[in-house]
Amino acid sequence: MEAFRDAILAGAPGEELARIPLPESYRAAFVRKDEAGLFSGLSSREKDPRASLHVDQVAVPELAPDECYVAVMASSINFNTVWSAIFEPLPTFGFLERLGRESEWGMRHDLPYHVIGSDACGVVIRAGSAVRDWRPGDRVVVHCNYVDGQDPRSHDDAMMGANQRIWGFETNFGGLADLSVVRANQLLAKPEHLSWEEAAVNALCNSTSYRMLVSRNGAAMKQGDVVLIWGATGGLGGYAVQYVLNGGGMPVGVVSSASKAKLLEALGCEAVIDRSEKGYRFWTDGHTQDEAEWRRFGKDIREVIGEDPDIVFEHPGRQTMGASVFVAKRGGVVVTCAATSGYMVEYDNRHLWMKLKSIKSSHFANYREAFEANRLIRLGKIQPTLSALYPLEEVGEAAAQVHYNLHEGKIGVLCLAPAEGLGVADPQFRAKVGEDRITMFRRLDS
Ligand code: NAP
Repeated sequence: MEAFRDAILAGAPGEELARIPLPESYRAAFVRKDEAGLFSGLSSREKDPRASLHVDQVAVPELAPDECYVAVMASSINFNTVWSAIFEPLPTFGFLERLGRESEWGMRHDLPYHVIGSDACGVVIRAGSAVRDWRPGDRVVVHCNYVDGQDPRSHDDAMMGANQRIWGFETNFGGLADLSVVRANQLLAKPEHLSWEEAAVNALCNSTSYRMLVSRNGAAMKQGDVVLIWGATGGLGGYAVQYVLNGGGMPVGVVSSASKAKLLEALGCEAVIDRSEKGYRFWTDGHTQDEAEWRRFGKDIREVIGEDPDIVFEHPGRQTMGASVFVAKRGGVVVTCAATSGYMVEYDNRHLWMKLKSIKSSHFANYREAFEANRLIRLGKIQPTLSALYPLEEVGEAAAQVHYNLHEGKIGVLCLAPAEGLGVADPQFRAKVGEDRITMFRRLDS
């Protein structure tokens, strides 16, 4: 892959990239099937991604007609990197076996190793015979909705397809590698005012937040809405705050430290709640929730913004869901895409039905939503939230930072890119958007 890297860095045209022979193997981060029981008996916290994530050479798979090989310059850590690495809630090899039973091309994915990673930025180096719009030399970001369009149910909203998957989590050949295999309908044009790593960190979290808040498939936020955002400087939250501000809403950001509160204020979020300082105890023990604590939280929200939230942006799950349902405004919506602290959630249904609230589920984004979210990045309206950067060899450490909640925004991973800051092709537009805004998370972390 070094030949591709050198040619890309030298600005070689697509025809030249197409002539470089493909290697037989490439460097990738993966988990191993024979290690799926590595952490059995341990608590989630004791399961350390540094022990299960390996970086080594793996074989280059064959390319299906509707796919492209992408030379990956940079990628990012997502929380699904952590789930894969700690084999929770299930080892991902079951997903690969199921995909392997689906078709001949699907069989390629069912391997004793799983190359993970659901974000990438790089350059197309080969396009399959059925690919129409993408060619070698195209500079791209990859979104992770893996869907083939053969299911009629996916034609209103691709997330409704029965075989919808998340690339690099429920498929093999993900983005934490020097090369990736992606479907043509996962490709988006790279925002050219950003470096490889700034462009690489957005697609998964940015598109998810877009669907949750902006899309009619999510909460369809309107001007003036008060939006409570859990983990407001985290992977999802850092984009959610920006969407609320851009759309004329009023964010209330919940974070767990004074430094994160400061970052939120720098982002323009004036209403901030530091949950560590407040010390909420929504659960008195493993089985009982305390309504008085929900009420105290609700009072704190009213204090910082003056009213109850129209929308609650929910993803911590078990620890917070009861409080989220309680504090939502009469007629409000709790939009949820995850359950980091546990998926068996509990809330008081009386507060839901008597006050006509609703819970809306959301999962990643369809191609159109990912395209719109990427368009907003390309227009400089949404900024990347890259806060730290690791080389691919240190992917285990990078995933540990996210697992143990030691990070802010997104952690980038350099794959073929030899250094930070490369790949900016439109410096004039970068200057117009503003270096300060683009690098806000990166600067505050250092
Ligand atoms: P992240 O970068 O770790 O950010 C999550 C934030 O949530 C943390 O920074 C933390 O912020 C807060 N948090 C964590 N545990 C909490 C708790 N018990 N109570 C209150 N706040 C808590 O992760 P992310 O990328 O935003 O992802 C969050 C979750 O969404 C993960 O479970 C991930 O797998 C899921 N996800 C789902 C989709 C989808 O398509 N369905 C897409 C992306 C992510 P503070 O400590 O500052 O409060």
